[in-house]
Amino acid sequence: MKMFKAVDNDFNIPLKRKTVQRMDVTKIGEHIYLIDLELAGIENSIASYVLNGKNTAIIETGPASTVQNLLSGLKELDVKPEEVIYVAVSHIHLDHAGAAGTLLRYLPKAKLIVHRRGAPHVVNPEKLWTQARGVLGKIAEMYGKPEPVPEERIITATDGMGFNVGNGVELKVVETLGHASHHLSYYEASSQGIFTGDAAGIYLNRFDVVVPTTPPPFRLDIALASLEKLINLKPRFLYYSHFGKAQNAIEKLRAYENQLKLWAEIARQGVEKGENLEAISRRILESDAAVQKAAGHIKNHPILSKTVLNQSVEGVMKFVEKFGNVLE
Ligand SMILES: [Zn+2]
Repeated sequence: MKMFKAVDNDFNIPLKRKTVQRMDVTKIGEHIYLIDLELAGIENSIASYVLNGKNTAIIETGPASTVQNLLSGLKELDVKPEEVIYVAVSHIHLDHAGAAGTLLRYLPKAKLIVHRRGAPHVVNPEKLWTQARGVLGKIAEMYGKPEPVPEERIITATDGMGFNVGNGVELKVVETLGHASHHLSYYEASSQGIFTGDAAGIYLNRFDVVVPTTPPPFRLDIALASLEKLINLKPRFLYYSHFGKAQNAIEKLRAYENQLKLWAEIARQGVEKGENLEAISRRILESDAAVQKAAGHIKNHPILSKTVLNQSVEGVMKFVEKFGNVLE
């Protein structure tokens, strides 16, 4: 019998091994893990969180296109599908809840927690998909088409509702409208942190700044009231869906309030002068130190370049056109 040498080839160079896809999973608290969903390979953009108590809850599903990444993350954490009892989403936009229908097929015991105004659109996501494609174009295609969620698996959440995951891990629903009319945040008692969805802006960790996510039909007045609600909970941490855990929570929420007010004032002046979106966007970029700090990153980012400098500006602009400056 011919003997083979225990090397990979004649040149003694190890053959390239098939690499196993490992998701980027980070422990960010005693019971909390962050999975970077890496949409289209883009890191630090969309997060899903896993809460591990006696049972497991997932906060934010991310888009349909990254559901396999989320499942790989769960596997890496050794979470069994039947251990997941709640999947809580902040709102029904595709980057937050787009994977819900697909995900629930893998998680036999999980219920979806969603705002009552969002629920009909996850049961029948056709309209949501059509609208998203109209507004987001290519980005919607990147997110992928959402699958319907069976109605009997939905819990329509109201402000103050609590969800116990065991071992002291508990989520409390905080209705935080403004970014959308179907937006919820979740206060987590054991860590005194809040999963903010899109209610507290987009956190750019690398620059330690927050930038607005305020697409039409944004309601500034309601968003500011929601931020006050979050501040009153005195959180120690914020868990942003875009992206990650942040300290100095109250400071960040206050800074976001002030930033929204600044944007509204600039938009009001611009609208009065008859300036278009591009001009107002440019003036915001010149006047907002936080945006300025991350300007290069935002301009070159495949998603943020469209959402922050275009849609978020448009949302604030349309708000002041319609309602005037409510802050005066
Ligand atoms: Zn979002």
